[in-house]
Amino acid sequence: MNRVRCLVFNAALGPLDYRVPAGMEVEPGSVVLAPLGPRQIIGVVWEAERLPATEVPENKLRPLLQVLPVPPLPAPLRRLIEWTADYYLAPLAAVARMALSSNAALQGGGTVTEYRLTGREPGRITPQRAIALDLLHDQQATIRELSEIAGVSDGVLRGMVNAGLLEAVVVDSDRPYPPADPHHAAPDLSEQQAEVAARFVDAVKAREFRPFLLDGVTGSGKTETYFEAIATAIAAGQQVLVLLPEIALTETFLKRFEERFGVPPVTWHSSLKASERRRAWRAVSLGVAQVLVGARSALFLPFANLGLIVVDEAHEISFKQDDGVRYNARDVAVMRARFEATPVILASATPALESLQMAEQGRYERVVLPARFGGATMPDIRVLDLRIDQPERNHWIAPPLVEALKDRLDKGEQSLLFLNRRGFAPLTLCRACGYRFQCPNCSAWLVEHRLSRRLACHHCGHEVPTPDACPEWHEPDCLVACGPGVPTARVALVTSDTLTSPAKAAEFVEQASAGAIDVIVGTQLVTKGYHFPELTLVGVIDADMGLEGGDLRAAERTYQQVAQVAGRAGRGVKPGEVLIQTRHPEAAVIEALASGDRDAFYAAEAEARRDAGAPPFGRWAAIIVSSEDEAEARDAARGIGGSAPRLDDVLILGPAPAPLSLLRGRYRYRLLINARRSSEIQRVIREWLEPLRFPPGVRVAVDIDPYSFV
Ligand code: ADP
Ligand code: ZN
Repeated sequence: MNRVRCLVFNAALGPLDYRVPAGMEVEPGSVVLAPLGPRQIIGVVWEAERLPATEVPENKLRPLLQVLPVPPLPAPLRRLIEWTADYYLAPLAAVARMALSSNAALQGGGTVTEYRLTGREPGRITPQRAIALDLLHDQQATIRELSEIAGVSDGVLRGMVNAGLLEAVVVDSDRPYPPADPHHAAPDLSEQQAEVAARFVDAVKAREFRPFLLDGVTGSGKTETYFEAIATAIAAGQQVLVLLPEIALTETFLKRFEERFGVPPVTWHSSLKASERRRAWRAVSLGVAQVLVGARSALFLPFANLGLIVVDEAHEISFKQDDGVRYNARDVAVMRARFEATPVILASATPALESLQMAEQGRYERVVLPARFGGATMPDIRVLDLRIDQPERNHWIAPPLVEALKDRLDKGEQSLLFLNRRGFAPLTLCRACGYRFQCPNCSAWLVEHRLSRRLACHHCGHEVPTPDACPEWHEPDCLVACGPGVPTARVALVTSDTLTSPAKAAEFVEQASAGAIDVIVGTQLVTKGYHFPELTLVGVIDADMGLEGGDLRAAERTYQQVAQVAGRAGRGVKPGEVLIQTRHPEAAVIEALASGDRDAFYAAEAEARRDAGAPPFGRWAAIIVSSEDEAEARDAARGIGGSAPRLDDVLILGPAPAPLSLLRGRYRYRLLINARRSSEIQRVIREWLEPLRFPPGVRVAVDIDPYSFV
């Protein structure tokens, strides 16, 4: 093989052909360094016949420079990359890039020099050094990473190295992970659990593609049963991938895993240090990482010997990536299992309607755990009609919920108040005129961060100090942050702004478990994973929030969130109680929640979706056009709308300004495409957009199976 075709990591280029110089050995999947003009780029050798042909004559080909010292991307992963690019209409190279997610690892093994504080007394202390000394406790990382953590320059840190305040530590990126022991602490499974586990174990042993929908109420022992499958895979020398929806959940999971297998698993998420990333990536690609737990980006890691995939809380919308390659990790995980010929377990107490439908069609095997482990009972659910039980002014909770909270405080038990939208809680507004602060870059409200006294935008990160008065009324102290009006108690606010790292999540779990928190006030982060035996009351502040708004899955999401958060109550021996505040007690979702009739809810929801041609009965896609120039974005969107194909089974809506019409300084227009299941929505969009040309400032993104319609 003298001429090879490569995917190269340059967004503007298609595949390129190169010559393999004498003495160099490459095969499909080899990661290579190739010349491009005067520069060098990274590429992956691919099966030539699977890529569009190039026309460079033999004698014009430039030679590859180097094969990077990593194993070739395995064939099942190459097929997954192709499938993902094809299905989500993404550039092949952009998908392949997600597999090579540690630049350092591509250089092979080796050592990294990190630094940590020596603890020596500083002599001369500048303000910058004081900050570094304060913020770098218990940190060990490269100078670049430390400078980011402390917010001081590299120069300051190098000066501290010279002054003996920081010392170098040489870290070997290939040091092995301690081995997990499949027999470390195996539980006695209940009869029902054992039956479920046996099916998983058989599938792992057979090493065949078998998708499972593990449908079990919260606390039924779903984790324990799939741990048995993990044990089987480890014992057989295979690797396991576990996907979790939020990094805040990893800490709890790591503990459980360690109790069961003796050591924590390897982790993968965006806040890993570069050296940890390199180590994990290499261990995965060399086949020595046994179990890797990660966020959705772990899905494209180059496992050498994958034997099982688990997607926990598989209904979670955070498995959907909404920028770059817009893929749904739950769905791609099933495809990966298919290409790898392994079982895959989608675990949830509230499966997505799409997953239930797959089970109904016999494409997934549905396994059910209908009861809580150890006889713990499901909580009592009560609906509070906010039109009757009105909260006091500026407070969010109705008198019966206040009473219930007081009762738990008296008994020394814990309560949880669930706010089902980020930015709902500390929304700052003027008491006199209701003025709210808007982000200058986005069509979104600013949210107050009480501790830092700043208003921040969750989309672009814009921040300003919280002003003393609103610009219309000018009266000092006229701004109030709406508070819950919780009686005096030790309150912890748990949102993705407060639990920003696994360490902070661990601290919260520890405090809550130790009983140092009376009331947890949280967003969807608190709906899952946690297990606090003293937590006996859950209040859902506004169950209607999710029902309004134009999201087609809103009802399902409300149902899932409330059912999940209700599952936090009464997980110990004490029974739990759930109070749901609503203005629409007659809505199907609320009625289903109150009566605990899940099947009725899913049946009603399925009927509504069938009528609307919505998933899983029809398909949606979105085209999002954006530009910093509003007229340019609008014209491009109109151009797309004007050339829309006319097809019987495809409905095209828009263009219209997107609900989030300004995002990070870019104006956005949106078209929605609704198709019958049978029509090939990808092919229609590809053929529609391909001939169109746009000014360089315009970005056109396609979202297949969108979750967010903003
Ligand atoms: P789920 O994942 O379905 O929410 P878990 O696996 O977290 O359920 O189980 C809920 C609780 O019950 C956990 O604390 C777990 O350790 C415990 N548990 C479940 N099954 C068993 C078992 N067979 N033996 C001992 N403890 C169990
Ligand atoms: Zn913003």
